[in-house]
Amino acid sequence: MFGGGGIRVGRILGIPIKLDLSFFLVFGLLVFLIATQVLPESLDGWGGAERWVYGVIGGVVYFVSLLIHELAHSLTARRYGMDVSSITLFFFGGVSVIREDSHRPGQEFWIAIVGPLASLLLGGGFLLLALFAVPKDTTLNNVVFVLGILNCFLAAFNMLPGFPLDGGRVMRSAIWRVTGSRHRATRASARMGQLLGAVMIIYGIGGLLTDVAIFNSAFNPIWVALVGFLLITQAAQGVKAAELERDLSALRVGELMLKPPVARTAEADLLVHVLAPSRAQLDQQDVFIVAEDGTAVGIASAVQILLLDEEHYLNARLRDIMIEAGQVQPLEPNSGADEALRRLQKERTFVLPVVERGRLLGIVGLEQILKALGQAPSPHPDPSSGA
Ligand SMILES: [Zn+2]
Repeated sequence: MFGGGGIRVGRILGIPIKLDLSFFLVFGLLVFLIATQVLPESLDGWGGAERWVYGVIGGVVYFVSLLIHELAHSLTARRYGMDVSSITLFFFGGVSVIREDSHRPGQEFWIAIVGPLASLLLGGGFLLLALFAVPKDTTLNNVVFVLGILNCFLAAFNMLPGFPLDGGRVMRSAIWRVTGSRHRATRASARMGQLLGAVMIIYGIGGLLTDVAIFNSAFNPIWVALVGFLLITQAAQGVKAAELERDLSALRVGELMLKPPVARTAEADLLVHVLAPSRAQLDQQDVFIVAEDGTAVGIASAVQILLLDEEHYLNARLRDIMIEAGQVQPLEPNSGADEALRRLQKERTFVLPVVERGRLLGIVGLEQILKALGQAPSPHPDPSSGA
């Protein structure tokens, strides 16, 4: 629902920063709350404009704090060699889009924990400023104090133990370390996320409909329920992703790879336009194993042929355009399909060679993985889909 597109506002350290539409709604609300609820009644300097100026400053500093929280996640991920494609600020927080998943529980732990730590440091810093540095009973003091509380709250909320919140990721890294299974860890912490979301919805509805004391809190019940709903939705995706990963890791590359004669073999000396006389009729999914004297030496995909300019299309031989088997790190027949998928995504390639003891056995691409997943008997039907 949120975090889809977003308006790009700039780049920090090479990472594109985007604002979701829901961001503007919350920003406006925050400015309004600071100006009308936080600042003293008596504040009407500058013809009544003063409180609004402070409201906007407070709002901007809060969202800069949010950005610092996300940058902490993103820069840590980047230190581990992961690609960060963007940071989007939306609704009640931000999201860093990291192109791949952690490889080890330790990485997952540090990427998750640095965000709340950054918020806690900021919150503590603002509170110290308000208590000791900024003159008491001033507008500035009020705003700095509120920024301190907001950042501490952000740290605490994000550390709630349910995936996809940061606390859920920390929990996931711990279960992963203990069990050695990433998908089991994801599933367990995502289930906790669903539980947490359900509790928030019940709490929100309770606060809305009843006068019972335990449902009374400083938080608006509609917001609590809405955040709970978002959490449940995203946690459910986490459960699905974990199940997909389990299914993938059970599939061996050797079982689903395309091998001759299904994968067409062509001699390295063959001219591209002889192999594919009409590019219009080329199927984008086609992949060719390129052979020399009966030995497979590389792979060439239809996409590569489609991307050639006219001159190269007419003159190039397969050996000129092929991906040499030795050029990309090959997969082994007993590698898991999860690894194949990860590599395909990371290397942004269409196919990977499967090699055993230096011999090219076949190729595997997204199509083969999806096909195998579709055929794999699901261990248990998924009751949550469509419900
Ligand atoms: Zn975070």
